[in-house]
Amino acid sequence: MTAYDITRRSRPADPDVVVVGAGLAGLAAARALIAAGLDVQVVEATERIGGRMADHQLDGYRLDHGGQLLNTDFPELIRRLDLDSLELRALAPGVQVHSAGRRYRTVGPQPPAIRQATARAPLGGSLDKARLGSALSRLAATPVPRLLARPETTTARALSERGLSPRMVDGFLRPLLTALLSDPALGTSSRVADLVLRGYARGRLCLPAAGTAAVPGRLADALPPGTVRLGVRVTSIGAGGVLTEEHGRIGARAVLLATDARSAAELLPGLRLPDFHPVTTYYHSTAGSPLAEAVLLLDAERPSGAAPVSHSLVLSEVHPSYAPAGRSLVATTVLGRRSFDAGGPAGLEPAVRARLTELYGVSAREWEFLSVRHLPDAVPAMPPPHNFRRPVRVLAGLYVCGDHRDTSSAQGALLSGRRAAQAVLRDLGMAGDAGSREAREAA
Ligand SMILES: Cc1cc2nc3c(=O)[nH]c(=O)nc-3n(C[C@H](O)[C@H](O)[C@H](O)COP(=O)(O)OP(=O)(O)OC[C@H]3O[C@@H](n4cnc5c(N)ncnc54)[C@H](O)[C@@H]3O)c2cc1C
Repeated sequence: MTAYDITRRSRPADPDVVVVGAGLAGLAAARALIAAGLDVQVVEATERIGGRMADHQLDGYRLDHGGQLLNTDFPELIRRLDLDSLELRALAPGVQVHSAGRRYRTVGPQPPAIRQATARAPLGGSLDKARLGSALSRLAATPVPRLLARPETTTARALSERGLSPRMVDGFLRPLLTALLSDPALGTSSRVADLVLRGYARGRLCLPAAGTAAVPGRLADALPPGTVRLGVRVTSIGAGGVLTEEHGRIGARAVLLATDARSAAELLPGLRLPDFHPVTTYYHSTAGSPLAEAVLLLDAERPSGAAPVSHSLVLSEVHPSYAPAGRSLVATTVLGRRSFDAGGPAGLEPAVRARLTELYGVSAREWEFLSVRHLPDAVPAMPPPHNFRRPVRVLAGLYVCGDHRDTSSAQGALLSGRRAAQAVLRDLGMAGDAGSREAREAA
């Protein structure tokens, strides 16, 4: 038996803690609670773990939900997961930007690469290149508390007020941040953008060789067999337990709500419901590769057509297991809230395909359209003022975690799970030395 193959088994004895939701936050919390010696049940409404960090197989292609990217600089990823077992595959340093009808390679993520890449980046004048290179180098070396003490505004406003030229902003920073924040209007807090850029400057964008789902998979592998019950939907919660559709009431000393923000607000009326950034991802396959490199291709233009593309990536260049032999898998992201016609998101595919021809500089006419995924609530919005540590303790016995409590990312979800577990341990009088140290790190 694995940690999570026990769908619809009969109702278990009441555990110490019920965790609602088997996404990254719930799994990270369960791990910390079990490590402290508690008996934990994770109940998950769907038939799989991972929540938004999942993938599905289609005819030999691996379609990650939304072409998600990790960063080797995510502190919680480094702390909580054995990165070797994840077999992370880094994208090529820097990004390719498509602007004014041509494509160019620009600033790489690590300080040496920054200096090298900025020397040949055809953006703006030499003053711009020097400014960008040194700004990213400074950002990489700036301690997080100092970044968080900067005045806070929207990312769009910060970009226009920091003395960088419009070409530098529009030709690099804006498309990069749009892609990394899933926010085409750049209404995200400038502090979040600073942290994201800092991570970009220090780490490498990467994906597990086995796909996005490997991240929750590795977390769940470390749980005792039978910890996660799939196909169990919680319908109401309280400090003493939960009600489920499948097993009636499960009592517990503590309940930890680790669902997405919308489900959390439904189960816990009064909890703040954020806005969301939708993400729509188109998957195409083609013989050969349109770009023989795993590099993020950013669309810096705002075409007036119906489907402005944010970014695209040849996933099979990250790892060959994303596509059958001899084929390539291209994932292309369209951002922003839009109303689809009767054809749904697939109705935009011809416009996306036309743009891909321009972006990659090769005809996409013969590419095979595999699938499209539209997630209206993909990423909780983080406008200013952004609270990086929303409370995770509702009352003694009832806790809440998820990316909506910290930052809208794998890093935020993992950290919120750990913070919530610490709050449970403190209330149960179990936060010993190790717990206190963890609590300080999570604070
Ligand atoms: C398209 C897309 C692109 C993204 N790109 C990136 C990226 O590039 N980099 C990055 O770091 N992050 C990215 N993210 C964000 C990242 O995926 C999330 O921040 C993270 O996975 C959230 O984890 P979570 O545990 O907080 O919530 P979820 O993953 O939403 O997990 C919540 C779980 O609770 C379950 N649940 C809900 N209601 C109930 C109920 N009543 N009973 C039982 N179970 C319930 C759900 O089924 C789900 O499994 C992206 C997200 C999306 C969707």
